[in-house]
Amino acid sequence: MVFFENAPAKITLSVDVLGKRVDGYHDVEMVMTTVDLADRVALTSLEVDYIDVSADNQYVPNDERNLAYKAALALKNKYHITRGVRIDIEKNIPVSAGLGGGSSDAAAVLRGLNKLWDLDIPLSELADLGASIGSDVPFCVYGSTALASGRGEIIEELSPPPVTWAILAKPNIGVSTRVIFNQLTLENLPHPNTKRILEAINQQDFYKLCDHVGNVLETVTTSLYPNVQRIKEKMVQAGSKGVLMSGSGPTVVGLVEHQHKAIRIYNGLRGFCDEVYVVRIIGYSTTC
Ligand code: ATP
Repeated sequence: MVFFENAPAKITLSVDVLGKRVDGYHDVEMVMTTVDLADRVALTSLEVDYIDVSADNQYVPNDERNLAYKAALALKNKYHITRGVRIDIEKNIPVSAGLGGGSSDAAAVLRGLNKLWDLDIPLSELADLGASIGSDVPFCVYGSTALASGRGEIIEELSPPPVTWAILAKPNIGVSTRVIFNQLTLENLPHPNTKRILEAINQQDFYKLCDHVGNVLETVTTSLYPNVQRIKEKMVQAGSKGVLMSGSGPTVVGLVEHQHKAIRIYNGLRGFCDEVYVVRIIGYSTTC
């Protein structure tokens, strides 16, 4: 039996870093949501106790380093499952882009195996298990819109944001989240106003949201990769109302209220940037 699970990309609407913790992680405050660019994860139950993973992307490992593999192993170990699974990942989300592709694949495996193996584990428990795989996995387990705190693993679900369209522009570089956090200087950070962002979401106020989006990690990524700053500027010039980098980058997100405008900006950016997508913000869970 083959079971398909959607693994949507996440974008950040704000990323704030509050301080460094004794365990080496940073305390963050992030507002995240999902878009309709997604990987497709096929799960085939195996009678033998074995996990087989393969992804159709040269930058993704086909072994125990794959976050989807780690998710299946964590689930099997925690719930003493002796069955196996074959995981085939159709990668549509760019890799190392700040769009949480690997975390979303891992979350899709947790949700999918929960159904395939009739485990009936509540999402909150899957999210806790996901935190042992990566800080963004709990958010991806819910796959909605959320305020993430702690090291990113504490999830408070929110209503979907008012914006409906986004342009994603990814320059041809991959960014390591660990490298960006390691180089972050906590003094004089341009903190986004998370409270105002939450208000804008509550009030479904697109323009207020756009006024307050922001990402403190841009201070590092744009200094390492000046092209990210250039793409941000192009995105503003082209008419995006809110512009920020997603996660640790390098993907730049432009927010607009109408599809025709998103397509116009997409066409303008295509000559300038290697990978550009027009996506719709989903922002609510389509997973259960
Ligand atoms: P984040 O912002 O959570 O770091 P990202 O979008 O920047 O995510 P990913 O695409 O998740 O980055 O990939 C980061 C690294 O994880 C890459 O080096 C990649 O090889 C590895 N990886 C492991 N499993 C996967 C997977 N299933 N899909 C994508 N990358 C994976």
